Amino acid sequence: MRVSVQPPEVTLTFDNGPDPDVTPVVLDVLRRWAIRATFFVVGARLTDPAHRAIAQRAHAEGHWIGNHTLTHAGPLGERRDADHAAVEIDRTQAVIGDLAHADRLFRPVGGGGRLGPHLLSAGARDHLAAGGYTVVLWSAVPGDWRDPDGWPDRAVEQCLAQPCPVLVLHDIPGGAMAHLDAVLGRLADAGATFRQNFPRDCLPMRRGVATPGLAGIVMPEPPPPVGSILDRASPARPA
Ligand SMILES: [Zn+2]
Repeated sequence: MRVSVQPPEVTLTFDNGPDPDVTPVVLDVLRRWAIRATFFVVGARLTDPAHRAIAQRAHAEGHWIGNHTLTHAGPLGERRDADHAAVEIDRTQAVIGDLAHADRLFRPVGGGGRLGPHLLSAGARDHLAAGGYTVVLWSAVPGDWRDPDGWPDRAVEQCLAQPCPVLVLHDIPGGAMAHLDAVLGRLADAGATFRQNFPRDCLPMRRGVATPGLAGIVMPEPPPPVGSILDRASPARPA
């Protein structure tokens, strides 16, 4: 196992909820550990009052609520239409309402946890910038959603290999979160501490302002078609 020299400061994030069965259990575990995290919610789930009540509980207990698109239909960089991004982002922010963090936290849908230009379209980037959003990436993806009993070892290994991991977990059904308490115990035993805020290198946009890391998560635009405006037979300059 590769281990960082210093024990890490771990930031916990939970995506794709809230879920009426799983999220309250996660909140109970976090309360026992006195750890505050961020929940990146799917907007469509919050329209159910019972789900919203769970997000309200999380907010009341000091957790931050972030935006993880309206429908979680796939990475925004795989869609070119700016309207799609606008709806996915802004309708979710509206549903989150007064539970939102002041920095307007937005986590792109990763499509399996990968980082890359598939995360945002140029339209989505521009929309996030205009709306003053803060884009929150991640650096540890143990795959809890696809391996509910096998993810703990990877989570510990990935977290101990870096100074400031941002760990992505999911408060969704499947059984993975039954291991959360044990994973936190293993990390604490290894000397890890927990922080709620995010290391700079996981924030490619802060309150609408891009940082150098942003370009790597935006799908390049195709070049405009040649000759679409000027007739190619025209002289370059007036005679
Ligand atoms: Zn997700």
